[in-house]
Amino acid sequence: MTLNTPLATVVGIGPKIAKRLERLNLYTVSDLISHFPFRYDDFSKITPVVDAKMGEPVTLQGEIWQIKNSYTKFKKTITRAILNDGSGAIELVWFNQPYLNKTIQSGNRLRVAGAVTSFAGKNTLVAPVWEKTDNALHTGRLVPVYPETALISSRFLRNQIDKLLPLVKSEIIDFLPEDVRGSMLPLAEAIAKIHFPLEMWEAKLARERLAFDELFLIQLATLQTRLSWQQHRSVKPWQIDQEKLNHFISQLPFQLTTAQEKVLGEIVSGLKKDTPMNRLLQGEVGSGKTVVATIAIYLAYLNGFASLLMAPTEILAWQHYETVRKLLEPHGITVGVYTGSRKLVHGSQFMVQGKKSMNNELKRQRTMNADVIIGTHALLSDKLLTDNIGLVIIDEQHRFGVAQRTLLRSRAQVPHFLTMTATPIPRTVALTLYGDLDISIIDELPASRQPIKTYVVPAHKRADADQFIKTQVQQGDQVYIITPLIDESETLQSVKAAKVEYERLTKAVFPKLNLGLLHGRLKATDKERVINQFRDGQINILVSTSVVEVGMDIPNATIMIIEGAERFGLAQLHQLRGRVGRGDKKSYCLLFTTADETAAIPRLKHLEKTFNGLKLAELDLKIRGAGQIFGTLQHGRFDLKLAKLTDLSLIEQARSAAQKLLGISPTLDKYPQLKLKLSELAKAVMPD
Ligand code: ADP
Ligand code: MG
Repeated sequence: MTLNTPLATVVGIGPKIAKRLERLNLYTVSDLISHFPFRYDDFSKITPVVDAKMGEPVTLQGEIWQIKNSYTKFKKTITRAILNDGSGAIELVWFNQPYLNKTIQSGNRLRVAGAVTSFAGKNTLVAPVWEKTDNALHTGRLVPVYPETALISSRFLRNQIDKLLPLVKSEIIDFLPEDVRGSMLPLAEAIAKIHFPLEMWEAKLARERLAFDELFLIQLATLQTRLSWQQHRSVKPWQIDQEKLNHFISQLPFQLTTAQEKVLGEIVSGLKKDTPMNRLLQGEVGSGKTVVATIAIYLAYLNGFASLLMAPTEILAWQHYETVRKLLEPHGITVGVYTGSRKLVHGSQFMVQGKKSMNNELKRQRTMNADVIIGTHALLSDKLLTDNIGLVIIDEQHRFGVAQRTLLRSRAQVPHFLTMTATPIPRTVALTLYGDLDISIIDELPASRQPIKTYVVPAHKRADADQFIKTQVQQGDQVYIITPLIDESETLQSVKAAKVEYERLTKAVFPKLNLGLLHGRLKATDKERVINQFRDGQINILVSTSVVEVGMDIPNATIMIIEGAERFGLAQLHQLRGRVGRGDKKSYCLLFTTADETAAIPRLKHLEKTFNGLKLAELDLKIRGAGQIFGTLQHGRFDLKLAKLTDLSLIEQARSAAQKLLGISPTLDKYPQLKLKLSELAKAVMPD
């Protein structure tokens, strides 16, 4: 038995259960003992049966007086037993465990734990945790409770971990150097205590140590990436022709905001260095990131480089194409588009047969005509990223997986990277997950922008809202209606929900208006048609799923309706509403919740008063936890299971420890165990 023993070969687990454990990402003994409980039931005190009160969790101990099975109409088994401890008797009930009346026999002494409920009118423990009293793993103590998924019960996990941990404990190597560990628990101790603490404070200490590890390792990895990025790659510093740059800026249809100027300055200084830039540009929806990116593309052009701009969807790619082209073509710069369905360079569409010739064609086109190619992830699928690319820009970067970004980075030869996101990133998160990036923030909107009047609308005011929409549309305004989020990704189910809503609105609510339907499963040409019709004003109301086109820029749209708003995070809602209020017209966002989700209203009310994306993201972090917001930012095994992204002091402590170690030994050669641990984790994160 070692840490690496596959669970399938462990006696008492076996291949069948091992398959289920795989669904929890548990493959080896080491994985299993690193599967931590998410809470503890305090069954450490034994209550006399007479004192067992309705609704309270209790541990009882007594003698089984009788136990028998009966069957329901539907052939389900009910096992009933009576437990008597001298002070009184109480009924115990289990469902569908017919074998129980063999394992437990009358006369056995039993300790049981659970909450007292009422069953058939009597005080009862339903499905209590139980054990015979010579063994106290499951009841008379702080009992670890594991997330119960994949048909694996906490009871099973407790048993296995209790059995296996002592066998491998001495093998657990503490990879933290002594002086980093300080007064924290040694690793093996922390693992033992997090599963089976005697007191809550022991669990807390264990948790602290293990949470520190998570934060420390991820920061060590990102900081190390950053170091090696800077050390092992060099580029020729770009020349910045200030005169041409100023001229370009003066030709823009508006004045840059102070914040845009500031981040442009940061980008320019990055491009003048002899190490490649790796920068994250964060700015609210509508803060004008595209134009900043366009200026960087112009600088690439002046330095003789082509640029790539990657957007998460075709619609956004085409929108960028239109925007960027208007700004760049007057300066003699050619712009191409490359998406899954269409390729276009310099206004003339080319269709190519087969993959190979497509590559050649595009390569030719690019090197001959296009100074910048805008596209979707289709840019990644072909070996496009070769020689002359000097700048890669990724818009809405959180929508691309880490793997995709890594792929892009490894394909492109040492270009400068600029990733852009409208997702506000709390400082704690930036430090932890983006330690390898420089961060620039556009923290101001163009002055012409007005805050979007936002209301959480109670169900009984829906008719008023419909009337309001009609009135505004009569005045020439346009409306988005976002159908509820069903899935993070666009499943058939969420498409269906959008269709149903579209039908209902068309027939029953706005029969006189023109409605359009948009979702990710439409063919690219159909999407484009719908969006163009909306842009041209032929469609009054666009019904859309939530996952499409965060960045759509249609100034005449002034009303945003969001159905099922309770299903979204605040920051996400803020991004959605950012699709309106892009022009100088007064704009509105109406949030609807389903009737049975009125509990969500206080949370949603924050949107009526708060227009700062970062503040909203921080609220999300507090209210809903990190997973909800940053679900897409998966770091493979770097998952934060215990650490909270709100714990600034632990994050900073871990960060300074990581910095200190890398200062002493940038390659971590002085800390072989730590280096090994990190490379094991990295292997799981990086594909190929
Ligand atoms: P985002 O940061 O969400 O990508 P965009 O780049 O799409 O924002 O810009 C939103 C809108 O604001 C666009 O119509 C753009 O032309 C406009 N815009 C950008 N910068 C300014 C500015 N400094 N002044 C006025 N309008 C601007
Ligand atoms: Mg954008």
